[in-house]
Amino acid sequence: MQKKYKYSEERRQNISEGTIKAMADPQIRKKMRLAKLGKTSPRKGKKHTEEAKRKMRKSSKGQVAWNKGRTDLPSPSQETIQKRRLKMLAEKNPSWAADKIGYGGVHNWIAKKYGVADCCENKQCSKKSITFEWANISGKYRRDRKDFMKLCRSCHRKFDRGSLSLAVIKG
Ligand SMILES: [Zn+2]
Repeated sequence: MQKKYKYSEERRQNISEGTIKAMADPQIRKKMRLAKLGKTSPRKGKKHTEEAKRKMRKSSKGQVAWNKGRTDLPSPSQETIQKRRLKMLAEKNPSWAADKIGYGGVHNWIAKKYGVADCCENKQCSKKSITFEWANISGKYRRDRKDFMKLCRSCHRKFDRGSLSLAVIKG
């Protein structure tokens, strides 16, 4: 069963507040990052037991994430978000990701040359999606800016499915 609490409720509250304050301080975050940089995680190669996982799930259920609703914390850049997304996609379906989005190849080329897509060129865009991607127009992936356009994820999917035509996009 659960261990007895080591700290009093008040002490716990103190630690919690201190941690939240420290996390909001860019200086402290930088220090922590530098201190950990280049070191192997103490958890590397270790796996939580099923029992431990079950406990973590149970104790975090219904808990509000520490960063929820906080607008004072540094948020990841558009580029970081994009990178994380690609990584997740690649983990789920490596060949699709390599094929569609391209690690290396022409998609990398366009992002390198013209930057991360940051808007949707569809004139009729519903503006609901805030994730933007380079979409290839001809399907031939030519190394040509004219063969690419910036689309939000929603318009990109529609374009790839064929339910959104180039004529509509270009208005
Ligand atoms: Zn759009």
